[in-house]
Amino acid sequence: MRRLSRGSKIVLASHNAGKLREFSSLLAESGITVVSAGELNLPEPDETADTFTGNAEIKALAAARASGLPALADDSGFCVSALGGQPGVYSARWGGPAKDMTVAMERVHREMGETSDHAASFVAALCLAWPDGETHCVVGECHGQTVWPPRGDHGHGYDPMFAPEGESRTFAEMGEHEKNAISHRGRALTLFLTECVEG
Ligand code: IMP
Repeated sequence: MRRLSRGSKIVLASHNAGKLREFSSLLAESGITVVSAGELNLPEPDETADTFTGNAEIKALAAARASGLPALADDSGFCVSALGGQPGVYSARWGGPAKDMTVAMERVHREMGETSDHAASFVAALCLAWPDGETHCVVGECHGQTVWPPRGDHGHGYDPMFAPEGESRTFAEMGEHEKNAISHRGRALTLFLTECVEG
């Protein structure tokens, strides 16, 4: 498996400015420079896979092939046990056209009905693709429980309705650093740095 070395330049297959900032500062510590798919005017492929790694791979491969550079992509979501893992890869889409996460959380709550099974997890996949088609994906998970009604003002997405294992607070009641230390994304990033970047 090929690894990124100091001085490498990679594309982040995302048009999201927040993600570019987060990944740029993390990878700068390993001497890696990040440019975004937006800066290079790369098209955004449709996320047609039904797994997180499948969608991350589609995005990373498209960006690597179009740019000629190694490309990193992520895909993440919220999986509720009583809903058979939904909303999963459709987590953003459950917010409707306006991507309203209050609407999305209410739908999860409604569809869970009276179940006593509150188990849920967040999942994040990261995929590194090379222009010749080689890919390597890592997955981070954070298990916990759904909480209703939602609580907390921090974070984003489904954070107010999720408490990680061993915690009574929701992700939205924790500080950013505290969440990152145990979150699906934090875990995926640690794996990525260990497996895909030279030490
Ligand atoms: P994407 O991978 O950026 O497309 O995110 C997919 C969706 O999953 C987001 O719109 C959020 O609704 C949800 N999601 C992913 N990670 C988190 C998280 O850390 N907290 C809350 N919601 C999340």
